[in-house]
Amino acid sequence: MSAHQKSVVFIGGGPGGYESALVAAHLGADVTLIDRDGVGGAAVLTDCVPSKALIATADFLSRFESAGRLGVGFEGTEDDQHAEANVTQVNSRIMELAAAQSRDIQAQLETVGVRVVRGTGRISGPNEVTAELLDGGTRTFSADTILVATGTSPRVLDTAQPDGERILTWQQIYDLEELPEHLIVVGSGVTGAELAHAYLGLGCQVTLVSSRERVLPGEDADAATVIENVFRRRGMNVLNRSRAKAARRDGDGVVVTLEDGREVRGSHALFAVGSIPRTKDIGLEEAGVELSPSGHIVVDRVSRTSAQGIYAAGDCTGVLPLASVAAMQGRIAVAHALGDAVAPLNLRGVCANIFTDPEIATVGYSQTDVEEGRVEARVVTLPLSTNPRAKMRNIRDGFVKLFVRPGSSTVIGGVVVAPQASELIYPIGIAVQNRLTVDQLSGTFSVYPSMTGSIAEAARRMHSLEV
Ligand SMILES: Cc1cc2nc3c(=O)[nH]c(=O)nc-3n(C[C@H](O)[C@H](O)[C@H](O)COP(=O)(O)OP(=O)(O)OC[C@H]3O[C@@H](n4cnc5c(N)ncnc54)[C@H](O)[C@@H]3O)c2cc1C
Repeated sequence: MSAHQKSVVFIGGGPGGYESALVAAHLGADVTLIDRDGVGGAAVLTDCVPSKALIATADFLSRFESAGRLGVGFEGTEDDQHAEANVTQVNSRIMELAAAQSRDIQAQLETVGVRVVRGTGRISGPNEVTAELLDGGTRTFSADTILVATGTSPRVLDTAQPDGERILTWQQIYDLEELPEHLIVVGSGVTGAELAHAYLGLGCQVTLVSSRERVLPGEDADAATVIENVFRRRGMNVLNRSRAKAARRDGDGVVVTLEDGREVRGSHALFAVGSIPRTKDIGLEEAGVELSPSGHIVVDRVSRTSAQGIYAAGDCTGVLPLASVAAMQGRIAVAHALGDAVAPLNLRGVCANIFTDPEIATVGYSQTDVEEGRVEARVVTLPLSTNPRAKMRNIRDGFVKLFVRPGSSTVIGGVVVAPQASELIYPIGIAVQNRLTVDQLSGTFSVYPSMTGSIAEAARRMHSLEV
């Protein structure tokens, strides 16, 4: 290391760590990345990538269901023939895909000169990190800058201990050798809703236990209502206002007990009841890093913690649990620490997606922000049923919603509920990020016929509201 070369040590190799380790290496720092469970983190190995790959299989299978409405039949099939998922093959494809992505990231890191260390890291003194190595022994690294990106773990209820066979966390489902006959999904947030959707699409009976009025609390209410209606129409048993208290095995099945005493019986139970930050016993308190009451690391908009030279990024900060946000927080931290140009984190431009069918994609201000007075906005909602491409594709559910600032007519937020809404939200994201007006949005050509035509049309309707 040259006299002026700064050393940066990353604890955690998920998107919060590895993305910014690459940036630090490009900026000429001496970089060490310590990771315990595998580079890519939970995002690549157990959470984001595997769940999306599972959903891709489920969505493919679901397309057969609607083939008839497009005039497609299966020639020569008998009545009881149907498309079916082979869960062992599905799971091994997913795990291979995740492992390959992890290897790619590791290779990328090593190519740019990042020292990748497999082990558990902890802050062991001022400007010092010690790794307990996976293959035995310890190694200590000095660091001008430390970035903590240790992520979270699934929250587990004392009364519903996962056994990896019948009572599961979302990280254990890829070990199943058979599809659950009847899966009870506890928790109707994003993870619960996505996985309930996946297993329904794979042909399982699914009961979704939701403690709230409707599924996906915290999301756009109109969008959540569409999803709940689709879930029910496809045969999912959705139990609203039903809080799970405990789960136990019962022979070849499970029993989930609700707080009001009801019991729900199924073959498997999957708990998706939140996450807890991995911030214990890694020397944070000793180093003077402030934690919130929930145990998350408190950071500012350039990812600084309360301790000099220590930054944090990703889910362990509790800012917004998305891989894209984790990576951005990490990149900002590195830029700040190494003296590169830096813009503080701006969450208003974050595009997020829920991978149900239809998907829900959002950006910027929300309906709740408008209703609770955080921002003044005009709202237009356009159902997809009027979109010619949607009709051709037999898409019946979904809408485009725009939030527009009165006066300036700039687009400040949007919701798209549609198949592959994740691909459709980008033009609205560009409009929000760059403060485009509805006229600029609607004046941009869209393909005819296309789903994006509804975004341009919604913007056009806003123009008529303004004049
Ligand atoms: C089921 C599910 C689906 C999701 N889908 C999406 C999605 O579609 N899109 C999206 O943007 N986000 C998604 N997310 C969220 C996304 O996975 C997280 O936001 C992302 O993983 C956060 O990255 P991170 O780097 O903070 O942590 P992680 O990805 O959890 O990585 C943390 C890493 O730190 C390591 N580590 C922990 N402690 C130590 C230690 N002491 N020493 C060394 N290493 C340590 C771990 O081994 C791990 O590799 C999903 C989450 C879940 C649960």
